[in-house]
Parts: sequence; C-alpha cells; structure tokens
Amino acid sequence: MSTRAACIICHEGATGSRTLVSNPAMLKELLDCCKERVALGQNDLQIITDRLENLSETDRASAYYHSECRKPIVNKTEIDRLRAKRTDFNSPGCSQRGPGRPSAEVGSRPKRTKTTQKAIACMFA
Ligand SMILES: [Zn+2]
Repeated sequence: MSTRAACIICHEGATGSRTLVSNPAMLKELLDCCKERVALGQNDLQIITDRLENLSETDRASAYYHSECRKPIVNKTEIDRLRAKRTDFNSPGCSQRGPGRPSAEVGSRPKRTKTTQKAIACMFA
C-alpha cells in the first residue's frame, strides 16, 4: 500500500519545507541535464538518468520531485563548469569553442547572390 508520492530523485516524500512537484516538461529537462552530466563524468547520476529514461509518458506525467532536488542538477553554471573542466582534460591545445560566443559582423553581410540561394537549397535537399 505505498501510494504515497515520493521524489524521483531522492525517494523521499514531501516534508514540511520540501513539497513535491509534478511537471513532465521539467523532468524532461532534468533528464537532458542528467545525461549531459553523466557524459561529463558524473557517473553517480547514471541511476537517475536510467530511471527517468525508463519512464513512459504517463509515468512521467505522474512522477514527482522536490524542486530542491532538481535545481542543483539542472544548474547550468555547474554544467558549464564541468564542461570547461572536461575540455581542459581532453585537449589542452584545442581552441576554445564556447556556445556563448557572440557572432561578429551580423550587419555586414555580403551582397545577396546566387551563392546564398544555393546554400538555402542545400539545406532542404
Ligand atoms: Zn527529493
């Protein structure tokens, strides 16, 4: 008779200060973050990753978690830090290629020519 809802991350129920939340979209994001972290070497998240991945759409819709448990996992700053560390280990000589790099010279495009149209056609080919 264990119908009491429990957190999918820590398996504990709701407590006075920690309430259980159900939000499939957030769980999807959580899974993505878990996967990324496991790929970056956080093997302890493999269990949660598997657990989340094995959830059906229905299960996910009725799954609960503490937002306190989810937050540190989806913390982008922390993931970026892991990623940076990983990059250092992998290839010390590799040039930095960050996602936040501003794309310069947006306004100074070359004249529109057939080349541009060809490029667009390629995308759909
Ligand atoms: Zn929890």
